[in-house]
Amino acid sequence: MTIELVNTGSELLLGRVLNTHQQWICRQLADSGRSVARQVAVPDGGQDIQQAVRESLGRADLVITTGGLGPTCDDVTRELIAQLLGRRLLRDEAVRGHIGRFFASRGRPVPVRTDVESWVPEGATILMNTYGTAPGLVLEVSPNPFRADARPSVLVMLPGPPRELRPMFTELVLPLVHRRFPLEEAFVCRTLKTTGIGESNMEERISGPLKPFTDAGMDLGFCARVGEVDVRFVARGADAVATVAAAEAVARALVGESIFGEQDDTLATVLVRELTARGLTLALAESCTGGHIADRITDVPGASAVLLAGHVTYSDAAKISALGVRAETLAAHGAVSEEVAREMAEGARCAAGADLALAVTGIAGPGGGSDAKPVGTVFIALATEAGTEVQLHLNRFDRPTFKYLTSQQAMMAALRASRASGAA
Ligand code: ATP
Repeated sequence: MTIELVNTGSELLLGRVLNTHQQWICRQLADSGRSVARQVAVPDGGQDIQQAVRESLGRADLVITTGGLGPTCDDVTRELIAQLLGRRLLRDEAVRGHIGRFFASRGRPVPVRTDVESWVPEGATILMNTYGTAPGLVLEVSPNPFRADARPSVLVMLPGPPRELRPMFTELVLPLVHRRFPLEEAFVCRTLKTTGIGESNMEERISGPLKPFTDAGMDLGFCARVGEVDVRFVARGADAVATVAAAEAVARALVGESIFGEQDDTLATVLVRELTARGLTLALAESCTGGHIADRITDVPGASAVLLAGHVTYSDAAKISALGVRAETLAAHGAVSEEVAREMAEGARCAAGADLALAVTGIAGPGGGSDAKPVGTVFIALATEAGTEVQLHLNRFDRPTFKYLTSQQAMMAALRASRASGAA
């Protein structure tokens, strides 16, 4: 099957919004065994959208458009595609009712402009948007006037906001793709999420032992991001499930310590999930990360079952008053030291009555380094009932990267301690 993607929105071409839909949708489809043959981004103007969709319908079995389904005057995808396909726009009472309930549940009046969202092209199947108001729409273009052989195509229109598009794609579009375009042979794609080992080191450690699998046709891929490497196994055919399971077992035996999750897991999500499963609680004492660890953890639904307190103690005085760090320790070793990290973690654990406490203190830079403690130096302490362990890292990067990497190392330390504490 052929798939094409049309991302609409002038802001994409003005460089004001990064086209993350292109990357995200292509990845979801690739992970389900299908690839996107062509992708184009077009401005909100009528000519451009219609021309791009007409061309894609002339080539592809499945055409996905994103954006332009909302209530503002530049949201014109629905009207333009209806016009292109010669379909009338008809009021859909179910969508209208959904929009009414959406605003009522937020205690707000329904904005007049949202009315346009309940007008849908004749014959469209509605993908109800439980994350917003504008529905996604599916049109069977059959016969397809833009294909020489008139073969049918499916056209899927999705709203632009990522927090609406992504769950709609996973929950509604992928099942539709599976139904309408079943794969000819079994396909398995599995991703292991790792942290703490760089991409080339990871490849060096596992690609040799996995050679029998790759020689037999399994794809092994690596994708590096800040502080993370994804290891991806792809196999096709009758043995795909067994092949990937066996390859995964080999990888786990070699680098299991650095694997934190699977598929789309994030480290914060896994940490919250695993602490919750074991009934463990966490406290944080952050200096150089400025609350970034707490921010990532509180992004996860259910974090309140786990996180008891997070202190941002940037100054020495705050470390003393909020966490009970001793002035003598600060004077003898400096704020960025193993000893202070240890006292911060123990103080946070004691103050919150938590099972685990993480503390970080370091030099983000660009200034403030010395020969003994260069920029990037960071101490990460983890206090538990069994005692306190302190790690030393050198994260010499720009400040946002430094904060992210440090938070990654700290959360991984807590995850390992949680896993070591016994089965959930
Ligand atoms: P809305 O109801 O918000 O108007 P819509 O379906 O009309 O939804 P757009 O107006 O095209 O969608 O986009 C809404 C917002 O979604 C954009 O301002 C942008 O922040 C985000 N967005 C749109 N397209 C993309 C894209 N390709 N990649 C990432 N973000 C996008």
